[in-house]
Amino acid sequence: MVKITDNIYFVEAPNKARFPYCHCLLIADQRRVLMDSACGDENIRELLQIPIDIIVNTHFHEDHILGNYRFPDAQVWMHTLDAPGARTLPRFLEYYGFSDFGGDAIGQDFITGIDLHATPVHREFEDGEILDFGRTRMQVIHTPGHTPGHCAFYEEESGLLFTADIDLSSFGPWYSHRCSDIDDFIVSIRRCAELDPRIVVSCHKGIITDDLPRRFQAYEEVIYRREEEIIKALAVPSTVEELALQQIIYGTQNTLNDLLLWMEKMGVHQHLKRLVKHNRAAQEEGHYYLI
Ligand SMILES: [Zn+2]
Repeated sequence: MVKITDNIYFVEAPNKARFPYCHCLLIADQRRVLMDSACGDENIRELLQIPIDIIVNTHFHEDHILGNYRFPDAQVWMHTLDAPGARTLPRFLEYYGFSDFGGDAIGQDFITGIDLHATPVHREFEDGEILDFGRTRMQVIHTPGHTPGHCAFYEEESGLLFTADIDLSSFGPWYSHRCSDIDDFIVSIRRCAELDPRIVVSCHKGIITDDLPRRFQAYEEVIYRREEEIIKALAVPSTVEELALQQIIYGTQNTLNDLLLWMEKMGVHQHLKRLVKHNRAAQEEGHYYLI
């Protein structure tokens, strides 16, 4: 664990925090707080010795709540809009929208494959609340788009912003399921950038301190690059399924398995919904075309 401020430690996940892991934060204060819990077995064994009083989850995703059940004595806190998606597996599957594009079996395999446990949520919080852990006070920054209740957390004294899955990865923003919203995502990226943090910790890229304004901008621009590709492809009226085969979201370097193809469809569908909302495309019998 790497000390970032007097009371805040970076908990580095294994395998560069690739799926199903995420980098987490430990706040060792009057209350011992773990922010997200999918930091891998070795870290969890160490954290159980502390022990942890509270788990604050940034959102309901599997690769953030995966370790919650290992801390049965901890209170779990999460934003009101994401809590239902974590409390039961049927609601988790519904938030993803696996029933869209015939993905029900894919959804079941997905949660079985990673041994996902639903988690209780004892306290729900909302935008602007100050979570007081002793000397450390984290402000809730509601940043929807990735999920409806996705939150970042700002520690004003150090200028540390825990951005969770506004992760500043080169892949870019992830919105390949039903409960995402691209327009909200854009607003949330800008809100993080406007806080002008000195230190960013993201769940899949870790600690980032250099060139932050440019990084937030580059991350947002990935959305527009994908959108341009989709607009180009719509020169020929196309279905979601046809567009998905072009692998505009995940890239052609990835072999499409069933899950990835389903997520490609969901991501493309989010872009199409946005284009329709902004009167740039329309749909007839499942075929989308430019207007
Ligand atoms: Zn996520």
